[in-house]
Amino acid sequence: MKRVIIIGGGVAGMQTALRLAEEGVEPLIVEKEAELGGKLRGWHRLFPSFTPASEVLGELRSRVARRGIEVMTSTEVKAVEAGAVTLVDGRRIEGDAVTICSGFDLFDARIKEEYGYGIYDNVFTSVDIERMLNEGRVARADGSRPRRIAFLHCVGSRDEKVCQRHCSRVCCVTGVKQAMEMKELFPEADVFNFYMDIRMFGPGYEEMYREAQQRYNIHFVRGRISEAAPTIDGRVQIKAEDTLTGRPLRMSVDMLVLLVGMRAGETNPAYEAAGLGRLESGFMAPRDSFLGNVRSRTEGIFYAGTVTAPKNIGETINEGCAAADAVLEYLKKS
Ligand SMILES: Cc1cc2nc3c(=O)[nH]c(=O)nc-3n(C[C@H](O)[C@H](O)[C@H](O)COP(=O)(O)OP(=O)(O)OC[C@H]3O[C@@H](n4cnc5c(N)ncnc54)[C@H](O)[C@@H]3O)c2cc1C
Ligand code: SF4
Repeated sequence: MKRVIIIGGGVAGMQTALRLAEEGVEPLIVEKEAELGGKLRGWHRLFPSFTPASEVLGELRSRVARRGIEVMTSTEVKAVEAGAVTLVDGRRIEGDAVTICSGFDLFDARIKEEYGYGIYDNVFTSVDIERMLNEGRVARADGSRPRRIAFLHCVGSRDEKVCQRHCSRVCCVTGVKQAMEMKELFPEADVFNFYMDIRMFGPGYEEMYREAQQRYNIHFVRGRISEAAPTIDGRVQIKAEDTLTGRPLRMSVDMLVLLVGMRAGETNPAYEAAGLGRLESGFMAPRDSFLGNVRSRTEGIFYAGTVTAPKNIGETINEGCAAADAVLEYLKKS
């Protein structure tokens, strides 16, 4: 039986493995964390349908278990070559093909010092909000209910200063979803979203944006917050410019939420060293954007999911299937 090594056990890795197993190939998932799931493990409810993330995660994990797919957890891949991977502990694992599904990393909001993340109380990231929602406890640092909340879009994306010029694609819709969740929890609060452009590219996303304005009364302000500072009463004062009216704006908020972007995964430079191309953004370059987007430049090495670009879960699942089909075609020929 042919064996395919899959680097990463997030959504992309699990879906690729499932499709391969259905077709009689033996997948091996190598995952550096102690559990399968990738970033999905940290999310609460998923846009655009508000489906609990735990439902999607539980279903994918149980399908992997039912199929008896071999999984090596707490095992990190350091390097790749056609038909083999080398682990951080020096071991080498061989197979007939490799699919890279090692995903993306989250932008570290502390790098944008002007927003005070990790320094001032009541400055959070979108990832913190997902965790707090999962824990059933969204509150300010002193435990009180917020009366005014601001979301800031494009933190660590579309920003030359931090060498992240790409759009992360999912943070506008995440910001709209979380703003709606905040309004559900704190109906008395005023919620503001500060954006450069609103990019609601997927099915149902534009409808969410409209609902956020019309039914939830969320305020959308076109403008980037230039800095945040703590006030003596424990609030956060933000300075921005409303670029539609051209007026400077100053307001105090009880919570500032930074919508952090998706940046290229930390193993990508090692793949590049093995001869695989990288894009300017740091994500891996597929062989061809149209006819070979799950193939790498090296025969026998494939990609699925956010290792090549920011994507949502639906797109990632589709790519897992497409990558498995490309692997099967390759195995038939070789
Ligand atoms: C704040 C936020 C909220 C989001 N909410 C939604 C949502 O509501 N709906 C939606 O459709 N999408 C959402 N997304 C997008 C979603 O998270 C991605 O589409 C999905 O996680 C992509 O899966 P992946 O498998 O490509 O990557 P990942 O989830 O990053 O998984 C990659 C896996 O590879 C492993 N790995 C990495 N390097 C190695 C290595 N060297 N060796 C071994 N293992 C390795 C990692 O540990 C990880 O388990 C959100 C994204 C963000 C940032
Ligand atoms: S999706 Fe929206 S918030 Fe995210 S980088 Fe693109 S424009 Fe900015």
